[in-house]
Amino acid sequence: MNNENNKSIHDFDFNLICEFFSNMERQGPGSPEVTLQALSFIDNLSDKSLIADIGCGTGGQTMVLAQHVPGEIIGLDLFSDFINIFNHNANRLGLQDRVKGIVGSMDSLPFQNEELDLIWSEGAIYNIGFERGLNEWRKYLKPGGYIAVSESSWFTDERPSEINDFWMDAYPEIDTISNQVAKVHKAGYLPVATFILPENCWTEHYFTPKIKAKEIFLNKYSGNKTAEELIVSQRYEEELYNKYKEFYGYVFFIAKKVIQ
Ligand code: SAH
Repeated sequence: MNNENNKSIHDFDFNLICEFFSNMERQGPGSPEVTLQALSFIDNLSDKSLIADIGCGTGGQTMVLAQHVPGEIIGLDLFSDFINIFNHNANRLGLQDRVKGIVGSMDSLPFQNEELDLIWSEGAIYNIGFERGLNEWRKYLKPGGYIAVSESSWFTDERPSEINDFWMDAYPEIDTISNQVAKVHKAGYLPVATFILPENCWTEHYFTPKIKAKEIFLNKYSGNKTAEELIVSQRYEEELYNKYKEFYGYVFFIAKKVIQ
């Protein structure tokens, strides 16, 4: 049984993780500059365009996008608290007429076939898996539409076992950039551009804001073992990044739906 008073540890963890991340502008590595760099490869947008930002979180990147593209943007995320913050941010920036956040899951998207001009997804496609996401989302794009996703990648063919084991446990679908580009192609897209996110997407835009989020969180949950464990795991991820950043990172893939 699983009611309000009897939440499984899994539910509790998920809510706790989301609460921690809701105190950050972004929930993954990235930056406004990188969002705009990825956008610079996309040339099919007009004020009639429909764009989906899948796994949008609180919308850090969506608001940047919205301020630089015409058309309507729908942000979709599984977590309703993120969507509330997203819609609040859209209102605050006066974007509410063309930017809307909705709760939903990336494995059953509420779009029509060939309805979208652009699918955006930063640091989120891993939740469904890179290949599965590319394959399943393609049908929602118009022919000639674009997809822009960021995903974790290996930078070398071999790597130390500590970092290899960490990723094999967290996300075994992580792959080398050349293999990922081949998967993009195989899924029916023309790979238009691929670039590695610079280090400041992790440091300045992800780890630094986390310091404040950790403080808020630990104040609220001091003595809570699960909350403290969550912070320890976050610190470990940061340590691993600092130690092994030449072996992995995030990569942006921009691709165009081609007729096959
Ligand atoms: N794009 C944002 C958030 C990345 S974090 C940014 O770059 O800042 C990954 C996001 O995916 C989280 O907001 C999480 O709630 C969301 N997510 C996880 N599983 C999902 C699913 N099945 N469907 C939609 N969103 C999901």
